[in-house]
Amino acid sequence: MSQPSRLRPLKLEELLRRNVWDVDEERHIEILRQDGLPQKALQLLCPMGCYSMAGDKLLMSYEGCVECGTCRVLSTPQQIRWEFPKSGRGIQYRYT
Ligand code: SF4
Repeated sequence: MSQPSRLRPLKLEELLRRNVWDVDEERHIEILRQDGLPQKALQLLCPMGCYSMAGDKLLMSYEGCVECGTCRVLSTPQQIRWEFPKSGRGIQYRYT
């Protein structure tokens, strides 16, 4: 007798891969000032790995952003300009 198939819980990476991005050519998040930025925290806590180092400079890639707001909380408006993408652009969550 065969076992009934079991649904296995999905990993976060698998869930995120289901989403779709309509990336705007205009960035919605921008580093304005490097000094005082919590570089390590931004690299570790952005769930999509949007922050990386190039030498001693922090870089930000907005294309895979899931708009969670973590980097907004970790910085000041003088350090990082943070806006939602234009209406209809950015991440489109898929829940199924
Ligand atoms: S809003 Fe979230 S996903 Fe987007 S760059 Fe900031 S921390 Fe990363």
